Amino acid sequence: MAKRIVFLMSDTGGGHRAAAEAIRDALYIRYGKENIDATLIDVFRLSRFPMNYMPEFYPWLVNRSKASWAIGYNLSNTRGRANLLARTMYYTNARRFKKMILTNPADVVVCVHSVITRAAMRAYDVLEMRPPFITVVTDLVSTHFFWYDKQVERCLVPTQAAYDRGINAGLRPDQMRITGLPVDPRFMDSLGSKQDARAELGWVPDKPAILMVAGGDGMGPLYATARAISEKHLDCQLAIIAGRNRALKEKLEQTDWQQPTHIYGFVRNMPRLMAAADILVTKAGPATLTEAAIAGLPMIISDAIPGQEDGNVTYVVENNAGAYAPEPRQVADTVAAWLHEGADALAQRTANARRIANPNAVWEIADEIWQWAQHGALPGKRKRRRLQRKREKPN
Ligand code: UDP
Repeated sequence: MAKRIVFLMSDTGGGHRAAAEAIRDALYIRYGKENIDATLIDVFRLSRFPMNYMPEFYPWLVNRSKASWAIGYNLSNTRGRANLLARTMYYTNARRFKKMILTNPADVVVCVHSVITRAAMRAYDVLEMRPPFITVVTDLVSTHFFWYDKQVERCLVPTQAAYDRGINAGLRPDQMRITGLPVDPRFMDSLGSKQDARAELGWVPDKPAILMVAGGDGMGPLYATARAISEKHLDCQLAIIAGRNRALKEKLEQTDWQQPTHIYGFVRNMPRLMAAADILVTKAGPATLTEAAIAGLPMIISDAIPGQEDGNVTYVVENNAGAYAPEPRQVADTVAAWLHEGADALAQRTANARRIANPNAVWEIADEIWQWAQHGALPGKRKRRRLQRKREKPN
């Protein structure tokens, strides 16, 4: 019988769905689609108001008020407060969680969203018997306490820093493993040569190409940054991805650009776009940075969501995989400087970017999940206590 694998995620940004789909597809390829019954659940969507509007609210909130996002993130990021908030999320949604669990029976549960992890674990743990629960941490470095629940069977993290934070949050070393961040298993093979990718995309074959993206939702000052680069009159071409941000796409399309410029909405062929490009200008989204590292694409980080993406900037810069330029003008100056340095210097940046990549991460994660899918149900909290009392009872 096919193994039932439930992924808990939400469409807040593009990274969580991308991670869940990447792992699911690796499982399909490795173990056969007919042997896997995978379900992706957007947990916020089935939560109580206002949580159910999080996918819409999240980009709006981050775009409108980065400062309040940062305050909320930092205030909630202590062991005690993260615990309290997770409890509150669980108690206000207990009935909905129960329904979700009953209508989606699982052999293993995989959670790829920080805010959901602890509340969902609690909801499973009140069952008499529950499926094994695996967290796949999809933030790179500055990981929130929300990610770390002590009851999970496994917590798979992308970096040593995320591992250390897990240990600090009280997880045992044998619960944790550093795997890297999961990326679409076809990503590497889809890259292909620069020339082929450019021909397929209709880009100019021999002009340096600057690819710009700001997460799945086209967040932050992407428009101003593109304008700043364009106004430099550099001998290059631009490819700008607005993602799901329709208003941004329209605005980009109505602008006169100084270079050949290609505008996209939400793209499904990111590996080809990355293969065709020479430099990436991006928000510090963990999935995009990881994909760029695999593609060997030097990166200029133009923006970061305060809190969860702060550490990503340091990680990229400290590993010489890219530069941080938080103002549109700084981005434009950096692009100009990199183009001026020429091909050899760019090749060195490419090698540095590749050094932080682990294209095998998604396979390691898929194997681990598959093993746990064979394990069978585990006792929930109450049953564990009963078993414990029995063991301690004098004969
Ligand atoms: N992405 C995509 N198409 C787009 C824009 C983004 O497939 O038009 C993907 C991108 O390749 C990455 C994810 O969406 O896998 C974005 O995740 P990231 O963690 O970088 O940022 P988030 O959107 O979660 O803030």
